[in-house]
Amino acid sequence: MKHALILVEHDGVNPHSALRRIVSAARLLADRLTLLVAGSQAQAVAEQAACIAGVSEVWLFDAPHLSQPLAEDLSPLLAHAVRERQASALLAAASPFGKATLPRAAALLDCAMLSDVVEIQAPDVFVRPVHAGAALATLRNPEPVKILSARAAAFPPAADQPAAPINIQPAPPAANRSAWVSTTHPDSARPALAEAKVVVAGGQGLGSAEQFHALLDPLADRLNAAIGATRAAVDAGFIGNDHQIGQTGAIVAPEFYFAIGLSGAAQHLAGMRDARVVVTINKDAEAPICRQADYVLEGDLFEIVPALLRALE
Ligand SMILES: Cc1cc2nc3c(=O)[nH]c(=O)nc-3n(C[C@H](O)[C@H](O)[C@H](O)COP(=O)(O)OP(=O)(O)OC[C@H]3O[C@@H](n4cnc5c(N)ncnc54)[C@H](O)[C@@H]3O)c2cc1C
Repeated sequence: MKHALILVEHDGVNPHSALRRIVSAARLLADRLTLLVAGSQAQAVAEQAACIAGVSEVWLFDAPHLSQPLAEDLSPLLAHAVRERQASALLAAASPFGKATLPRAAALLDCAMLSDVVEIQAPDVFVRPVHAGAALATLRNPEPVKILSARAAAFPPAADQPAAPINIQPAPPAANRSAWVSTTHPDSARPALAEAKVVVAGGQGLGSAEQFHALLDPLADRLNAAIGATRAAVDAGFIGNDHQIGQTGAIVAPEFYFAIGLSGAAQHLAGMRDARVVVTINKDAEAPICRQADYVLEGDLFEIVPALLRALE
């Protein structure tokens, strides 16, 4: 019987919405599934995680020093859980959290890991994007423990089940190699970029920080959207780099992606390729984003966005 472990990303109260999809991915690799919840007073997270279909048990590591998820503390915990459970797979979402933690656990277990997996063809055959998403590589991984970060949008969400058992585990001592100082949520009134159902993303075509915000902020407010940006827009100082989408920014997979005044460079497409419906406003119908988009509004964004705002009033 094969056993998989999932590192649960959470905010102290709720598991991240990606968890149900990572559970679906893990079920392709194992028949037993243990979710690892590490936190401080994170019982509510464990209780919700236990009710996801396919979960066999939840291990809850509860200690004050786990209140903030530091990769230096979590990686030995993961390596310990893999050995203890004799697990054949360890997964997490391909988020900054998963990407910071899994490679360290892989190093401790002396196993290679795969990142950004979008398909599991067999227990040892995985598909992942390469060259900023321009191609897909199919890889065979012969490691005894398959360690992978999975792109949540590529897997369906698991349903509900009656609660699986929650087992309290002793937390390993603090590694004391890094310390949490503070967290800031600059845009707390808007949905988080990684989880938003609607994303309004702007590029260099908006011309200045003032114009970027004058046009995109009210549009995002009307659509209850998160605001994203290209690297060029971030580098030009239109908005902070926590809004950057792409190869070196956030990976998003919203229901609706509004691309405004951006060209759709390969490095940008790498971060939004899994969006369900893409609408773009661009005055250049030859821009790469127009090939990616489901709907193209060809023209000047400084005319089209105000007209849209009036229509949405
Ligand atoms: C290693 C590396 C990593 C990178 N990582 C990222 C990344 O993570 N994310 C990312 O986004 N980029 C990344 N880049 C940069 C990327 O290559 C592009 O330079 C960048 O995405 C371009 O941004 P843009 O589309 O805003 O600007 P541009 O390419 O200049 O496009 C502006 C667009 O706006 C349109 N436009 C202009 N004025 C108007 C108007 N008035 N009305 C309508 N349309 C108008 C133009 O037709 C054009 O298509 C990376 C590059 C490298 C080398």
